[in-house]
Amino acid sequence: MSDDKQPMGQTRIHKTGTQQPAPHLASYEQAAAQFRWDDAANLLDGLPGGAGLNIAYEAVDRHLAHGRGDKTALRWLGRNGERRELSYAGLAQASNRFANALHSLGVQPGEGVFVLMGRLPELYVALLGALKARCVVTPLFSAFGPEPIATRAEMGDARVLVTTPELYLRKVQGLRQRLPGLRHVIVVGEAPAGDASLHSWAALVDAANPDYAIAPTDPESVSLLHFTSGTTGKPKGAMHVHAAVLAHAVTGRYALDLHDDDVFWCTADPGWVTGTSYGIIAPLVCGVTNVVVEAEFDAQSWYGVLASERVTVWYTAPTAIRMMMKLGAAALQGYDLSALRFMASVGEPLNPEAVLWGQQAFGLPFHDNWWQTETGGIMIANYAAMDIKPGSMGKPLPGITAAIVQRDSSGLRLIDSPDTDGELALKTPWPSMMRGYLHEDERYRKCFVDGWYLTGDLARRDADGYYWFVGRADDVIKSSGHLIGPFEVESALLEHPAVAEAGVIGIPDPMAGEVVKAFVALKPGFAPDEALRNELLGHARKRLGAAVAPKQIEFRNNLPKTRSGKIMRRLLKARELGLPEGDLSTLESDEK
Ligand code: AMP
Repeated sequence: MSDDKQPMGQTRIHKTGTQQPAPHLASYEQAAAQFRWDDAANLLDGLPGGAGLNIAYEAVDRHLAHGRGDKTALRWLGRNGERRELSYAGLAQASNRFANALHSLGVQPGEGVFVLMGRLPELYVALLGALKARCVVTPLFSAFGPEPIATRAEMGDARVLVTTPELYLRKVQGLRQRLPGLRHVIVVGEAPAGDASLHSWAALVDAANPDYAIAPTDPESVSLLHFTSGTTGKPKGAMHVHAAVLAHAVTGRYALDLHDDDVFWCTADPGWVTGTSYGIIAPLVCGVTNVVVEAEFDAQSWYGVLASERVTVWYTAPTAIRMMMKLGAAALQGYDLSALRFMASVGEPLNPEAVLWGQQAFGLPFHDNWWQTETGGIMIANYAAMDIKPGSMGKPLPGITAAIVQRDSSGLRLIDSPDTDGELALKTPWPSMMRGYLHEDERYRKCFVDGWYLTGDLARRDADGYYWFVGRADDVIKSSGHLIGPFEVESALLEHPAVAEAGVIGIPDPMAGEVVKAFVALKPGFAPDEALRNELLGHARKRLGAAVAPKQIEFRNNLPKTRSGKIMRRLLKARELGLPEGDLSTLESDEK
């Protein structure tokens, strides 16, 4: 691989074709032209005897049938240095026990099983076991406070909750009155005494029968319920089905290039859809060894994991990458990262500098890819054998038709001309598409027009077919008639050596409608003074032109972010304008 020195945005990272192992997607054009979801179905086995399709069977039990039971499925690294390995056979037995435990409690297929805990092995066992029992699983962030837990458990009609004694006492016990439908709580550890609805994992699950035959499973039955934050009101419960596993099998191979011998690490928490689809399902379906790290982000310990576990494929997120960039490439010295061969990023715009920094620091670029809770799997990606244009999300997955559209009163207009902003739309259907928003048919129906799913993201496609993220439909700034994508402005600011993070919003202006305001967190060693503010304003004006550049810059120590690492521009804007802050359930780190 090599990169041309061209202005940012037009840089290309060429792939040489000598990668080992050879990428699954050797020729994007050929695969895109020939791909059929029906043909891809042979990546899966289906339940024995033609009894349907179950995610957990494809992820775990199937590998035993193919003689891979002894292979390590999960390699868990605890926060205090503990290690635990579960083979595919071990994971099959453990999840069987969990499914049997649910049966012993009288839990029925279709009922809601919620999981609230940190990244402990039991989380993975419970999720797979509940899928085997054909329950509907919702993983929640362990960092959620009582209110978001209650809202989601109420909406999703949680019948069973799997958690730890500490989280139960601290966050759930006081909610029981509000959750009359919650009949059983399984705690990983000693169950607090005096309540018959509390069961200790050891007594209930470890003691259960390790044999379990998955009952016939309709591929269209609901498997996972993932909550995603709306801009207003309650979170939306996106319902996914067992058939989605085909998209995980395909994207695991095409977008993450997973091969048999890979050691894979997805840094996302299963409380976010990425941590479930790509931190559990896709790697197991592809039969690789899946590394799970309990501890939160810390650049040095992450480098340690990459080195000691000989991670080959790494899937992470822009915020973490930017934090690593802040420390500089020197922090990588002394770690043997020679096993690493493919790095990918998702969740928010990946700035071109970050892609190039990967190349400089790791000798590999980050491959950005795009998807959202509603799409159930990766939809647009930079593939292993395809040139990367840093800053671009890449091209649609073979099997997916994407378009840039505009909505008007007569329906949708597809925008064919390149480099034109519009809403990103995906042609329906595909296997992992959400099948509904829980209890919100109208909100669901509004996402679809003329056979297209509207993503709510603004993007553009260039003449080579690469997609570029512009912003959320509701984040875009209109200034003096120009549509301005905050990402573009943030990227320009991030090119400046002093800038660690940038969040850009539009603020009302009597002349221009809106003007651009930037909130900036600086790297260590830079002082937030007038001289630097003017320098940044000048840098952005030079890079972007006066119509697009920010008019104001405010320094902050930190920017508010979601658990999945997205800078919450909506919150910056609400605070700036003194508006209600809205749903803060996904807020992870704040400005203070
Ligand atoms: P979530 O459903 O929480 O995963 O959020 C999905 C949203 O995150 C998308 O609609 C985008 O707005 C944003 N997003 C995800 N991946 C990317 C990406 N690669 N580039 C830019 N935005 C992204």
